[in-house]
Amino acid sequence: MAHDDDYSWMLLSRSTDEWEAWLDKFVDNMFEDMYTSEKALCPYSKCCGVAYKSKSEVHFHLLSKGFDENFVKEKHSSIQSWDNDMDVHVGVIMQQLVAILCLH
Ligand SMILES: [Zn+2]
Repeated sequence: MAHDDDYSWMLLSRSTDEWEAWLDKFVDNMFEDMYTSEKALCPYSKCCGVAYKSKSEVHFHLLSKGFDENFVKEKHSSIQSWDNDMDVHVGVIMQQLVAILCLH
């Protein structure tokens, strides 16, 4: 199983149980803080991330049609850049720590 922040499962074949399990989780997360009647942006390509759909509609769209390729790419690149930011951040903290240690 992939990690929570890992979207590589989106590239799995939609016929696998693993993909379906991750889809359930993904849709659950998407609607986690929402009322059941609320609608969210559907990531399915025909909805283009501009159509607001209910949880069951989003689940059905993704289950039957899969994710939009660009959406998957975007997820990958956003995680990539986040990782890079984290590295920079840790680097800055380390520098500050060294500076503090050197003062004492
Ligand atoms: Zn849709």
